[in-house]
Amino acid sequence: KGKRILVTGGAGYIGSHVVKALGEAGCQILVYDNLSTGNRWAVLHGELVVGDLSDRTALTRAVVGFAPEAVIHFAAHIEVGESVRDPLKYYRNNTANALGLLEVLRGAGVGSLIFSSTAAVYGIPESIPVKEDAPLSPINPYGASKAMTERILADLACGDGAFRYVALRYFNVAGADPSSRIGQDYKNPTHLITRALKTAAGVYPRLEVFGTDYPTPDGTCIRDYIHVDDLASAHLAALGHLLGGGDSSVFNCGYGHGSSVREVIAVVRRVTGVDIPVVEGARREGDPPALVADSSRISAALGWTPRHDDLEYIVRTAWDWERALASRAVDSRP
Ligand code: UDP
Repeated sequence: KGKRILVTGGAGYIGSHVVKALGEAGCQILVYDNLSTGNRWAVLHGELVVGDLSDRTALTRAVVGFAPEAVIHFAAHIEVGESVRDPLKYYRNNTANALGLLEVLRGAGVGSLIFSSTAAVYGIPESIPVKEDAPLSPINPYGASKAMTERILADLACGDGAFRYVALRYFNVAGADPSSRIGQDYKNPTHLITRALKTAAGVYPRLEVFGTDYPTPDGTCIRDYIHVDDLASAHLAALGHLLGGGDSSVFNCGYGHGSSVREVIAVVRRVTGVDIPVVEGARREGDPPALVADSSRISAALGWTPRHDDLEYIVRTAWDWERALASRAVDSRP
């Protein structure tokens, strides 16, 4: 019988792609999501319980009733800029609500968790590509809220052996399901590839480049863009590791090379055939110049091999998704 997996935030962008992969692997899935940024239609497998992480009663009922063998915890806020403006929102949801979830899991005897962490925990890395043992020195509240939760997990795993976890540090996740059933659908998207594609689609008049004076070859920031389905397969590998009795671990998830903002724009222009208007603007607060993963640890330990290490494929699947989304009425999405 399939493993029982509870997925918080499973109706969101990354969570829904992981739910897709879990479903294809035959798992039994319960998604717990408040639908603040997620969508009911994005849950392709299993059951959805609409609830907030801060609702201890509803969360406990879901955990105790479903009795999962493992939990994958996605539910969180993710915008660097917003976290600078409203840090308490980030510490409340990404740190305090994660702590609340851990208390509920402990009470219910659930001892395996996969945690969505981020490259933002590194701040401005001393060297690139960055390895997992690099110092954690986040430069924005988003990264700090995730680093604090990682610390809680590490301390908890040092206890009586009843708890093990894998923290996956995501680099820049992009792209969509190649058959366009699911993809990113934020009300106010801030991510580069999504903003650029929506500019190509005419939703925005122009794309602003945030900073052209960074110490990088073309002056714009460099990021390691990873396709969301490769990130999903990293979660399945982490799940197999935990359920097989593997040790608590932390893994970077990226491809080991990066693209600049200008390079991304060039690929978006090529894929869409639209010469998107671009304006050069000031730096955005909280942005490190370059973030590139050394992902050799997850490849060696879990045998993870990415299948979509190709910015053009990432942009093409995201573009197909944008067009599928635009052609549907809001209430008749799949
Ligand atoms: N960026 C940009 N214009 C935009 C959105 C993003 O120039 O409209 C830049 C941003 O400053 C960063 C890179 O693109 O250097 C990636 O930003 P994104 O928000 O996609 O991801 P992050 O790295 O913040 O997680």
